[in-house]
Amino acid sequence: MASEVLCGRCGALLTNPTAPCPRCGSPASGGYHSSSVRPRKSPAVAAALAIVPGLGHFYLGHNVKGLAYLVGIGGLQFFGFDLDLTVIGAAVGVPMELGGGGLWLFSIVDAYRTAKHMESGGY
Ligand SMILES: [Zn+2]
Repeated sequence: MASEVLCGRCGALLTNPTAPCPRCGSPASGGYHSSSVRPRKSPAVAAALAIVPGLGHFYLGHNVKGLAYLVGIGGLQFFGFDLDLTVIGAAVGVPMELGGGGLWLFSIVDAYRTAKHMESGGY
């Protein structure tokens, strides 16, 4: 009982304090780090992940934007849906004249720029 440790992130009881938390995956070494510390996001990783439409933005925590890219680009490129780009474009601020391929490239650049922006302390 005396050696039981609670996860610093989600509060789950850790039966093995040296192993990652089984519930949230938080590394347990040291344990109690502040949840207000935002993990650093690498612009390079964000851009690389953005090659899969939306994934770069999911990585950055911009889930709504990522989903817009995923649906817009994924739908256009892989399923051939005749999507209304006006809606997608309005959601992510992309010029309408860009097609699916342009939107895809834009999403990679946008993921990179967003990560850069977050790195410099903004959001
Ligand atoms: Zn946890």
